[in-house]
Amino acid sequence: MSFKLPDLSYDYNALEPYIDARTMEIHHSKHHVAYTANFNKAVEGSSLEGKSVEEIFAKVSSESAAVRNNGGGFYNHNLYWSNMGPGGGGEPTGELLNAINGAFGSFADFKSKFSTAAATRFGSGWAWLVKQADGSLAVSSTPNQDNPLMDLTDVKGTPLLTIDVWEHAYYLNYQNRRPEYIEAFWNVINWDEVSKRLKA
Ligand code: MN
Repeated sequence: MSFKLPDLSYDYNALEPYIDARTMEIHHSKHHVAYTANFNKAVEGSSLEGKSVEEIFAKVSSESAAVRNNGGGFYNHNLYWSNMGPGGGGEPTGELLNAINGAFGSFADFKSKFSTAAATRFGSGWAWLVKQADGSLAVSSTPNQDNPLMDLTDVKGTPLLTIDVWEHAYYLNYQNRRPEYIEAFWNVINWDEVSKRLKA
C-alpha cells in the first residue's frame, strides 16, 4: 500500500460534544479506510505508482473517476482530521489572522463566507480556505471529493482549512441540520495547524 491511512492524533470522542465519537469512528475507520484502499487499488500497477498526491491531482482531469474520487477522498480526509482537534476553536493569531483580515476584511466576515460556502454546497462536497498561487487567500467549495489541488477545480491553490459536508460527516448527530454542524465545527478548528500550512 503506497498511501497509508493516518492515525488520528486524538481519540474518537475528543471532539465531543461538537462531533460525536460514533460519527468519528465510522468516518475514519470505514469511509476513510475505503477511500484509501480504493485509491491504492486504482494507482497500483498504473503509471501513477510512486507519484505524490500533488503530482496526481495536477493532471487528474486525464485520469479515471476512481483516481479522482478516491484520491480526493484519501487526501481531503487527511487534511480534515489534522485541521481539527480537542481544545480548538477561537480565532487565529499572527500572520494567519493578518492574511484573513487582508482577504476578507475581518475574521467574522471570513467565518460567514466559509460557513455559507459549506452550507450552500449542493449535495456532497467540501468547503475550503485556499492560498492561491499569488499568495492571496480565497474561500471556495468543491463537489464530491474534488479539491483545490486538482487541475479541473475553479479555485486552485494550497488548501489551508477544510470542512467535510457529506452527510456521513454529521448525519448521526445533526440529521439534516448541516448549518448546526458547520457552526459546531468552529469550536474544534486547530488554528496552529492551519497557520503551519500557511507558512509551509
Ligand atoms: Mn467524509
